[in-house]
Amino acid sequence: MKDDDLNFDKRHIWHPYTSMTHPLPTYPVVSADGYELILTDGRRLIDGMSSWWAAIHGYNHPMINQALHTQINQMSHVMFGGITHPPAIELCRRLISIMPVGLECVFLADSGSVAVEVAIKMALQYWQARGEQRFEILALRQSYHGDTYGAMAVGDPKNSMHDMYQNYLPSNRFLHIPTRRFGENWSKNDALSFSQLFFDHHKKIAAVIMEPIVQGVGGMHFYHPEYLRLIRMLCNQYDILLIADEIATGFGRTGKWLACNHADIIPDILCLGKALTGGMMTLSATLTFRHIAETISQSKAGCFMHGPTFMANPLACAAANASLSLLKDNSWRQCVETIAVHLSSGLAHLSLHPNVKDVRVLGAIGVVEMIQEINISQIQRWFVEHGVWIRPFRNLIYLIPPYIISKEALMILIDTISGALNQPENFIS
Ligand SMILES: *Cc1c(COP(=O)(O)O)cnc(C)c1O
Repeated sequence: MKDDDLNFDKRHIWHPYTSMTHPLPTYPVVSADGYELILTDGRRLIDGMSSWWAAIHGYNHPMINQALHTQINQMSHVMFGGITHPPAIELCRRLISIMPVGLECVFLADSGSVAVEVAIKMALQYWQARGEQRFEILALRQSYHGDTYGAMAVGDPKNSMHDMYQNYLPSNRFLHIPTRRFGENWSKNDALSFSQLFFDHHKKIAAVIMEPIVQGVGGMHFYHPEYLRLIRMLCNQYDILLIADEIATGFGRTGKWLACNHADIIPDILCLGKALTGGMMTLSATLTFRHIAETISQSKAGCFMHGPTFMANPLACAAANASLSLLKDNSWRQCVETIAVHLSSGLAHLSLHPNVKDVRVLGAIGVVEMIQEINISQIQRWFVEHGVWIRPFRNLIYLIPPYIISKEALMILIDTISGALNQPENFIS
């Protein structure tokens, strides 16, 4: 890649949450293999991000690649209206068999945000069909559910997105985030603040949406499973639907198959994405119970009102099928447990660092929360110079490596974070 290309990129191409006038630097990656990203100049970076929770099997996995080749020779895409195809049928069969019993009606869409839109629309149509005026979704402060409008409207209200689009966003109600962290002792008083809200407003609430256990973008918090259990109970008590957004946490990342499993609860609607295809293609799934799907189908419209052009894209389904095959014999569990052990022992000493506020690990997620904001472009350059790909945000440095990462590579990621903390220029003081 030429300098010219990088200049073009800088001038003409938006990157996620990046200024068009003062963009952060971008690094040119030409290939990726296993747990490594390979830059134009041949440098190899150890990947600590799994391309945002997605590439759990690493990159260029021969089995997923083969599945894509096979599918591409059959067909890459065909409309899903009035047509069905083997990769979609196989995928939905698989999902139904590996997800909580009863979640048996599957809506395949193109991205996580759309899965959330679909879940919200399902909840609204469900209550419409039941003849009740329920237009609110109850969400958690510091939550993140995606960047489209419905998803933004259930994201943290203090987040800049709400300020910016306020007059255009539907308004929802928000619960305070659970004060008890994962692993702390639960006290009954922790429930008082939010049970009142259910009591007061339940007649207007169509659904509760939450990221089970792990709040990602909202601050990489791990909260107490009892909170999730209580919300499930209150939803049962007041007949409110519970939507679990497992887009980041699904498929083993937190040490359980679903983060909901930490609390032994089953949601009424489940959103999956990110690692669904092993990070190869964009695809999401929203699963629900038959009685909910049937009620929706009795609404005024007579059907669920959604149908994206690339619904159930066969290539994406083929990638997902291959990825799920790789997860089949539970080998992910051993990988995630091993990563958890190394993250815990490797990162623990950083909690003594004067600029570190907290260090926490859950499954294959390791978080170093700093007291001060991070200078992202500076620390990013430092990481790349030291051969790793880690992308912090705000005051959070975190690792979500591919499950297949070696112990040695993981240790390099950890040691490099540790080194970065001792470079004052990596932080904004
Ligand atoms: C990433 C994410 C989304 C949005 O998924 P996209 O594929 O980026 O649209 C929604 N919810 C959670 C919890 C996520 O982590």
